[in-house]
Amino acid sequence: MRPLWGLAYFCAQNQDQMATNRTFTMIKPDATGAGNTGKIIDRIIEAGFTIKAMKWTQLSLADAQAFYAVHAERPFFGELTEYMSSGPIVAAILEKDNAVADFRELIGATNPAEAKPGTIRADFAESIAANAVHGSDSDENAAIEGAFYFSTRELA
Ligand code: UDP
Ligand code: MG
Repeated sequence: MRPLWGLAYFCAQNQDQMATNRTFTMIKPDATGAGNTGKIIDRIIEAGFTIKAMKWTQLSLADAQAFYAVHAERPFFGELTEYMSSGPIVAAILEKDNAVADFRELIGATNPAEAKPGTIRADFAESIAANAVHGSDSDENAAIEGAFYFSTRELA
């Protein structure tokens, strides 16, 4: 197999790995820096999500720009990508029935001032930018975002 075909096949395989009962999350640099990683993972497990893959890592600025390319035209893109590359994150693929919608319910609104009491962002976010966690907004994006960090062989 020619090397380029091999790479295309590898990427396609990674994007195929996510069924509709999966979502993708990151615990963001404000939360890892404040020592809230364990508490947030506990909330996720107690809410019934199964961890399929997880890693502690840090994004380069270029990685953050690629991950958030969909927001490239938004006024907060520069601030968001600098912040997301400013410290460690925890990336994870999670599984549960209705995973995308249920996870967004668990984390609460983007702006913690508007997040319902008891949600992860209400309890741990610092601001609308430093809002503790990411959650995919659709099954399609969950698959793309999961494949950004994990290969098929990293799922368990
Ligand atoms: N964000 C920001 N300012 C805003 C809106 C969003 O800094 O006015 C950041 C925030 O970290 C958010 C991320 O950009 O989580 C992605 O924005 P999105 O609208 O997709 O919110 P989410 O899906 O994370 O709730
Ligand atoms: Mg979003």
